[in-house]
Amino acid sequence: MNRPQRVLLLVVILAAALAESAHLFSAALEESSAELLALPADSIQGMIDQISQEDVVRQVGLLSGEWPILSLGQPYTISSRHTLSGESISRTVRYVASRMSAAGLSVQYHVWEDQNYPNVIGELVGQSNPEQIYLISAHLDSVSTRDRAPSALLAPGADDNASGTAAVLLAADVLSRYQWGCTLRFGLWTGEEQGLKGSAAYAADAADLGEQIAGVLNLDMIGYNSDDSRIIDLHARSWLTGSVEIASLMIDVVDNYNLNLQPELIIDVPLSDRSDNKSFWDNSYPAILAIEDHDDFNPYYHTSEDRLENMDIDFMTEFVKAGVAAFAHMGNCLLADGLGTVEGQVRSIADEQPLTAAAIEISDGAGLTATTSTSASGAYSSTLPAGSYTITVSANGFFPASAPGVSLAASAVAVQDFALKAQLRAYLPLLIQEQPASPLVRSPLITRRP
Ligand SMILES: [Zn+2]
Repeated sequence: MNRPQRVLLLVVILAAALAESAHLFSAALEESSAELLALPADSIQGMIDQISQEDVVRQVGLLSGEWPILSLGQPYTISSRHTLSGESISRTVRYVASRMSAAGLSVQYHVWEDQNYPNVIGELVGQSNPEQIYLISAHLDSVSTRDRAPSALLAPGADDNASGTAAVLLAADVLSRYQWGCTLRFGLWTGEEQGLKGSAAYAADAADLGEQIAGVLNLDMIGYNSDDSRIIDLHARSWLTGSVEIASLMIDVVDNYNLNLQPELIIDVPLSDRSDNKSFWDNSYPAILAIEDHDDFNPYYHTSEDRLENMDIDFMTEFVKAGVAAFAHMGNCLLADGLGTVEGQVRSIADEQPLTAAAIEISDGAGLTATTSTSASGAYSSTLPAGSYTITVSANGFFPASAPGVSLAASAVAVQDFALKAQLRAYLPLLIQEQPASPLVRSPLITRRP
């Protein structure tokens, strides 16, 4: 075979290999998002239905100075959210924190440079696997450098990025009405316009703490659309496991819930590094950036004219809905049926005495195991997702006992008592007293208390 023939053969082989890997890649993509979309869609449709254009407009308007917020008991108009705007950013940070805590989240300030402009982190702690964390985020700060307006005084930043901030706050409102197995975090960053400073500090701290952030959805500029395309850009990194999966999940969410948007997957381009998702990529956390169409660029970007009147409200509302639904799907940990409580008492069969510090293990046989122990009165209690459980009790000097098939309904209490038989060495004195032998008794009592 001469040289040109050898080269041609090589090209053919390479092309075939590339096609195959692309095919494998999209197959993996499809498979993973299909898995993630296995959740009951009704609950998620219910969440989407709680997002209204009025709520979106109102929230963006409050953040960008169209209407005053209530701050320190007085009306206050946010004219700028520039990181170095002093009182204005300080009031804004306190305002979004109060919004999150009003939704029932636990809220923390993450100070990365100055007390005046910390990041704001809201959290819904997971009920069954709290160590697994999912994060929806947006930068809170704004600038208006392009028209030389004094940013510290006038930087409404309605699209950049009151729109993303509003999505995070509305997600907190809606998702806090549900029960979650994993932990949901809601992050609002400052210092983004100064080089992703707030999120960089946060992501590095989280990595130092070894936190398991399993997915980040970062929203930045989601309200401008001047053409009929309604394109949204989803930026991901192919080499970071989980990043492309989150983007494909969001594409499927738009499709599955018939949202009027045109998602486009953008992989491994430098442009993606210009928002807070990069801080998480830099710490090897799977993240994406969801942003409006770069090719339909907002002409009011970074000017004092970046205001609500220049945004596409319907497009933005659909984008907020897509963000909330994708975030709700990300962890696959919605406790669709809510929580119930398993409780009971452990006693010695011989003398009916309560057994203190007996070890209780409650397992659903599908990976969820909760452990607790009995109190001084022999009582135990555990709050768990609705379902069917096996409860096993063991105590020093007693034979262990198990009760399978204990079914727990949402907002109900299942009572499972145990009477344990003492092991021989403990039993001897009783023999002397000629106690009658009795089989293990398990109280059949399963009550539902309203
Ligand atoms: Zn931005």
